[in-house]
Amino acid sequence: MIFWEELASELNAREAKSLRRTLQSVPDGALDLASNDYLGLSRHPEVVAAAQDAAARFGAGARASRLVSGQFWLVEELENALAHFKQTEAALVFSSGYAANGGVIGALSNAETALFCHKRNHASLLDGCRLAQSQGATVRYFASNPKLRELLEKSAPNRKIIIADAVFSMDGDLCDLPALLNLAREFDALLLLDDAHGTGTLGASGRGITEHFGLGDERIVHVGTLSKALGSQGGFVAGPRVLIDFLVNAARPFIYSTGLNPPAVGAALKSLEIIAREPQRIGTLRANARFLAEKLGNLGFEVRLQPSPIFPVIIGAEKRALELSEKLLERGLWCRAIRPPTVPVGSSRLRIGINAGWNEGDLACIVAGFSHREHKEDTERHREFF
Ligand SMILES: *Cc1c(COP(=O)(O)O)cnc(C)c1O
Repeated sequence: MIFWEELASELNAREAKSLRRTLQSVPDGALDLASNDYLGLSRHPEVVAAAQDAAARFGAGARASRLVSGQFWLVEELENALAHFKQTEAALVFSSGYAANGGVIGALSNAETALFCHKRNHASLLDGCRLAQSQGATVRYFASNPKLRELLEKSAPNRKIIIADAVFSMDGDLCDLPALLNLAREFDALLLLDDAHGTGTLGASGRGITEHFGLGDERIVHVGTLSKALGSQGGFVAGPRVLIDFLVNAARPFIYSTGLNPPAVGAALKSLEIIAREPQRIGTLRANARFLAEKLGNLGFEVRLQPSPIFPVIIGAEKRALELSEKLLERGLWCRAIRPPTVPVGSSRLRIGINAGWNEGDLACIVAGFSHREHKEDTERHREFF
C-alpha cells in the first residue's frame, strides 16, 4: 500500500540522519546507566513484595475508572501519603505522569486562560499546552525570566498559569524556582511545577524542588511521577483540596481511564515509606554523581554535574553518540544515545541517570567503560570539529 510505503521512506530518511529510533531490550547482566530508577527502589525486595501483596488483595488491575468502581482504600492511602510528602492538602494519582500533565493543564484551561510554558519543558507539558490551545487558551513560550516577565506584563488580566519542569529532563538543571514564584506572586498566576525527576531526589528528605529551595505557596500546582525515583508506575497532582476535587470532575485522563493498578499503588506507597525511613539514599545519590563528574571530567568528557540525578555527557554529533553507546555496551554498560529532536541538533549525548544503588564496583566499571582510549579520541576529534 502507498500509505505504508510513505511511512517506510520516512523511516529511511531518519535512518540516513542517524535519527531512527528502535526498541532494544536491556541485555541481561548489563549495568543500566540510563534508567530513572534513581534510588534503586524498583527492585527493592520490600517494594516488590508490596506490589505483590496489593495484587493479591485488590487484583492485578483496577477494573474500572475510579469514578465507577476502580476506587479502593489503598489508593486513598497513597494519595494521603503523597499529599503529606509534598506538604499539600491533597493529591490525585493518574495512570502516568504524562496523563497527569495533560489532565491538569486541560482541566485548568479555557478561553480565559493564558499559559506561560518554558521552552525546554517535557513533551507531556508541551502536549498539554497544545490541548489547552484547542480549548481556546493562549500559550506563550519563554526561556528566560525577563522574557517571562515581558509576556506576563502584556497579558490581559485573566487566569494565568506559569508552567515549568522543576528539573529539565535532558540537561538536569533546575528551574529558577525563586524567580518563578516571585513572578507568579507579582502577576497573581498559578505556578505548575513538573517535579518528575526531583520527586524522591531533591531536598534533604526527597520532597522535591520546593524542599530544595525551601519554598512553598498555595499557588503551586505540583505534578510528579511514581515511575522514576519511586520505582513504580503512575503520576500524580498535589495541591489545595479544591484543585484535587476539581480535577476529579474535569481531568479527562482521570475520568475516562481505568484507575491506577493496585501493584503500582502498593509499590509507590512502600517507596515513600522507605524514602522517609532511609533519607541517606539521597546522600548516596549525590556522592555517586560527584564521583562520576570528577572521574569522567578527568577523562576529558564534557560532563555537567547538576543538583539533580540527571548527568548528561555531551558528545555532539548524532553518529558519535551512537558509536560511544555501542562501545559502552561491549563493556557491559547500557546507555543509549539521546538525539534530536529530543535535544538540539549537534548536542547528542549520553544521559546517565545516577543511581543510589550503585556500589564501588559498579562505579569502577562505569569509569573503566568510559576510559577506553578510543572514546577519548572521539570526544577530542569532535571538539575540533564543532
Ligand atoms: C518522565 C517525565 C514525565 C512523564 O512521567 P511518566 O510517569 O513516565 O509518564 C513527565 N514530565 C517529566 C519532566 C518527565 O521527566
